[in-house]
Amino acid sequence: MKTPFVTAAQVEEICAKYPTPFHLYDEAGIRKNARDLHKAFSWNPGFKEYFAVKATPTPAILKLLHEEGCGMDCSSLTELMMSDRCGIRGSEIMFSSNATPPEEFQLADKLGAIINLDDFTHIDFLERTIGYIPETISCRYNPGGTFAISNTIMDNPGDAKYGMTRPQMTEAFRILKEKGAKHFGIHSFLASNTVTNDYYPTLAAILFRTAVELKEETGVHIAFINLSGGIGIPYLPDQPANDIFAIGEGVRKAYEQILVPAGMGDVAIYTELGRFMLAPYGHLVATAVHEKHTHKEYIGLDACAVNLMRPAMYGAYHHITVMGKENEACDHVYDVTGSLCENNDKFAIDRALPKIDIGDRIVIHDTGAHGFSMGYNYNGKLRSAEILLKEDGTTELIRRAETPDDYFATLLW
Ligand SMILES: *Cc1c(COP(=O)(O)O)cnc(C)c1O
Repeated sequence: MKTPFVTAAQVEEICAKYPTPFHLYDEAGIRKNARDLHKAFSWNPGFKEYFAVKATPTPAILKLLHEEGCGMDCSSLTELMMSDRCGIRGSEIMFSSNATPPEEFQLADKLGAIINLDDFTHIDFLERTIGYIPETISCRYNPGGTFAISNTIMDNPGDAKYGMTRPQMTEAFRILKEKGAKHFGIHSFLASNTVTNDYYPTLAAILFRTAVELKEETGVHIAFINLSGGIGIPYLPDQPANDIFAIGEGVRKAYEQILVPAGMGDVAIYTELGRFMLAPYGHLVATAVHEKHTHKEYIGLDACAVNLMRPAMYGAYHHITVMGKENEACDHVYDVTGSLCENNDKFAIDRALPKIDIGDRIVIHDTGAHGFSMGYNYNGKLRSAEILLKEDGTTELIRRAETPDDYFATLLW
């Protein structure tokens, strides 16, 4: 069962101060999860999580993760600027981008970020753009084909636009070495939102073997292996969660079996988790403002898909709790909608819920990652506020809601 990290009384108290809709984040949950991740990989002295900024690009959240030892994984100019604004720079930034504009490489270089090259042609492009090849450099690997764990196809790397082929990796390492690179990283992201403890260990074994081969072929020093993102969370109420300790242990076993015998026991493990770090620790809080009885039963919220795009975009399930009715029978079936002029603006379709009354507070679960951050302004809708529920139970407004002035700010007349 999924239960909110706030009580109905707490939600009412917050709503008395800030109008719905808003995104609410759970500091205690974020910190505990980050600590567990670090514990799970504490066997690896160089371990570092680079939080995927795109998941939740909110300074208060980034600073909190930084306090827990995380660096930042940035993919764009403003994500780099955001990290810089939070005082997170140098090797605490991983710049993993694709189809990269030159000014982004320039800023990444200026901030001292570790650059992860998406493509073979980026070697030349980077050198021309910043004038040299950094001593520490990483390359993104795409093995192609399909990626399976015990015969279950997880994803289709062969169709993905990211990364270099296996022969390109060898060639890239050779050329980068000639151009002065000294410490190399290997990065790969083969499946998204995996809810199995086998994803990282399976990926790690592939990358560890590749690292051993690349070292033999090119003689480079492999300093780190970046398992990137992809550890998922159980969006469905009865889905079992990943066990980060089992995942850390699985990666450790592959490390002992493959890297240590090859004399590569100094390789650091990096991760770039986004969803796993934040998704469960965010709620989109909304109010039921309309009910409609036509061919179906509808509940209209004051939030819409611009606040949370995943259901409209991917048909993603997000659990819903009607606050104050947590223990009531789910004996009504609703489509829970927003107000966009788009029929896919539905947070839930045919969802069994307790009877909803106008004014009920609605918590939409697992919106801490790719929630606010995927927001947009369609229909002239404005982005909501973000609020942090602190460990001591108080709340802090960490981003104000947009106003019509913000919406009109880019007009030239
Ligand atoms: C999106 C992304 C991540 C994070 O993915 P999650 O599925 O949220 O863990 C990490 N690295 C890169 C390069 C990404 O694009």
